[in-house]
Amino acid sequence: MVMRMNLPQADQNAFIDDVVQQRQGGVNALFFSNVKADWKVRVQTYLAVSGDPGSIPPWPYAQTHATKFQNLYENPAENSVQKPVLAALRSREFQLCPACGEDGTPNTLDHYLPKTIYPEFSITAWNLFPMCDICQGEKGTSTVNALNERLFLHPYFDQFLEVQVLQLQIGLPYEAPASMTLTPHPGLDPGQILLVGRHLGNLSIPSRYYRFFKDEYLRLLKLVRKIRDKGQDVTASLELFCENALEKSINSWGHIFYSGVLTNPALMDYLRQGELPENL
Ligand SMILES: [Zn+2]
Repeated sequence: MVMRMNLPQADQNAFIDDVVQQRQGGVNALFFSNVKADWKVRVQTYLAVSGDPGSIPPWPYAQTHATKFQNLYENPAENSVQKPVLAALRSREFQLCPACGEDGTPNTLDHYLPKTIYPEFSITAWNLFPMCDICQGEKGTSTVNALNERLFLHPYFDQFLEVQVLQLQIGLPYEAPASMTLTPHPGLDPGQILLVGRHLGNLSIPSRYYRFFKDEYLRLLKLVRKIRDKGQDVTASLELFCENALEKSINSWGHIFYSGVLTNPALMDYLRQGELPENL
């Protein structure tokens, strides 16, 4: 994920106690009483390995009883313990998707470890966060590659998401760039670069970003013309736009864009004094 989020601080052991208590009197009372201790161990293991699917293989017993866990998420009763917990996770008011960084309110709650493969984490807050529909469609039930390396960044555990993890490079000609590349930021360490690369590829972020880029670049050229017409300083003005985009998130699509513009000396020369296209 390209946005760092704070880990929900809920006491998961107490939460499981409450959920199991509520199941008493129902048809699955015995199942939940019997599974309670192992369920807690699984959830604490999730925390210990930061949700890394390469370090926590699926639990066959939970898979055998998948629907019992999944129903807690899919059909929570009105007065259930988990209903307000899930509602709070859904109601985070983001202005961008934590997984891709695109503007918009993410309207889906994603299970980082999919509930079809890891049913016991269906209602674990540490495994749940908002995501846009496009990211969720791309992610599906994928978790690791053939080398058992995780495919996706985790917004609660990947602390390095507080720095810029993506770099935009804009190709020539600057009147209408024929190409752009969006890659992991070279300032990251080698393991982080590989992980960010897997995340980008598996969510199809570069091709999605290209569509945004084309519109944003045209807006940039129009803005630069206005800045010049008013006799204002192009660099200082674009730095302000960059700072404004940073307010949203350092890895928001807008900030990645302006950072890619401002750190490109040849492009900045063009924007300051080159000949802008006539039909803007
Ligand atoms: Zn997204």
